[in-house]
Amino acid sequence: MLKEVLNHIMKKPATNLYPAQKLQMPPGFRGKLKFYPERCIGCKLCMRDCPTQAITINKLEDNKFEAVIELDRCIYCGQCVDSCPKKALESTKDVELTQLDAHKLRVVFRAQPENNSKK
Ligand code: SF4
Ligand code: SF4
Repeated sequence: MLKEVLNHIMKKPATNLYPAQKLQMPPGFRGKLKFYPERCIGCKLCMRDCPTQAITINKLEDNKFEAVIELDRCIYCGQCVDSCPKKALESTKDVELTQLDAHKLRVVFRAQPENNSKK
């Protein structure tokens, strides 16, 4: 045991120094979802295909929809992104989703008059 400790004591750490050093996620990584309300047509294919019922699309008014995503239910499979015919959903590389307040795991994306998107 002591020999093992001495062998490794001067070596570079095998793990990353997170969160001081952040890794770049690889291409195709599926992290937190992003919703583009201006593209959504309300077809709800994303809701139908989600295996964990983590996404809900609500109609706000004619041609205006919001997406409610439960981050604690989402398994980041990207099925909703693939199912959307209008590219209104996107997987980002955001992995920092830890929350002390569970209510913050329910994210509402809704169009805003000033910049057309809200997170
Ligand atoms: S599949 Fe796309 S266009 Fe259809 S409701 Fe979902 S986000 Fe909107
Ligand atoms: S990434 Fe998968 S689990 Fe998450 S909302 Fe989309 S379909 Fe559902």
